[in-house]
Amino acid sequence: MKTIAVLTSGGDAPGMNAAVRAVVRTGCENGARVLGIRRGYAGLMAGDMYEMNLRSVSDIIHRGGTMLYSARSKEFTTEEGMQKAISVCKENGIEGIVVIGGDGSFRGARDLSVRGINCVGVPGTIDNDITCCDYTIGYDTALNTIMDMVDRIRDTCESHERCNIVEVMGRRAGYLALNAGIAVGATSILLPEIDFDIQTDIMDRMRRTQKTGKKHFIIVVAEGATEKLVEQGISGISGLARFIEHNIGVESRATVLGHVQRGGSPSVKDRVIASRMGSYAAHLLLDGVGNRVVAMQKEEILDFDIVEALNMTKSLDKDIYRTAMEISI
Ligand code: ATP
Repeated sequence: MKTIAVLTSGGDAPGMNAAVRAVVRTGCENGARVLGIRRGYAGLMAGDMYEMNLRSVSDIIHRGGTMLYSARSKEFTTEEGMQKAISVCKENGIEGIVVIGGDGSFRGARDLSVRGINCVGVPGTIDNDITCCDYTIGYDTALNTIMDMVDRIRDTCESHERCNIVEVMGRRAGYLALNAGIAVGATSILLPEIDFDIQTDIMDRMRRTQKTGKKHFIIVVAEGATEKLVEQGISGISGLARFIEHNIGVESRATVLGHVQRGGSPSVKDRVIASRMGSYAAHLLLDGVGNRVVAMQKEEILDFDIVEALNMTKSLDKDIYRTAMEISI
């Protein structure tokens, strides 16, 4: 009987539970013993795991977060930590691990694979920033959460004829900000990937729309773009609110959405894709294949060598940004 394991690592994302469920059920239905490792690589090194069965993953498909808990571990990135993890795998007869997480977690999966423990990565991160994938588990739910939250902000923004600046997650990648910005009709969208000028991209746009009768404004800022504001002498989104009030005369408020973006019941899309990816990953391990990342490209589920996947590049579609700027004026 084969023994495979599953863990969730790095930042949690809605849909991770659906992926865990799919790994466990695929493994059990194909005659494998499936171990659930708690708290990512930290739990692996500590041997914090238990045997799962078909019923262990009942009633989780609709839940955000991860039933296996998630963690980050510096110790695991050291050779000593890695050897600890390998010993635990050997003691427990673990032949392969499905690692659900972001690119940091995939680097850990690569390092375990080269040391003889087959690992398959499944992309779980709300930022959609994994280079080999068009889509990552949690992204759709997070987008919908942001849209819902900003719609609420818009109600009060409109009543008071204000400008509301909303910071969303995305340190290195602006997918959430760009697509949420389109969905909420933001006047300006600031992204880490695209240089912007406060005068041209915010103040001038606001003034132009004011002349056409617009009285309330939403500005969406990715976390990573906040740092660029500082470079232009503006202290974050609160500083931007003060700058707009002073220069345009529109009362302005700043909101950081924060961790609300990580939670919530996963969307249909996240549940379905997570289920397909989890099952695909378990089948790879059951077939004795490791050192792979499961990905989605053009609606198709496929897999890549982890090292190749980590070396791929992906860039934000500038045409989508141009469209956003053209229509939200
Ligand atoms: P998110 O996209 O949500 O941040 P992530 O998987 O990229 O998710 P990280 O914190 O970067 O999150 O990585 C999770 C864990 O993976 C780390 O705590 C560490 O244990 C392991 N890890 C990260 N980078 C490496 C690396 N270069 N080599 C080995 N292990 C790594």
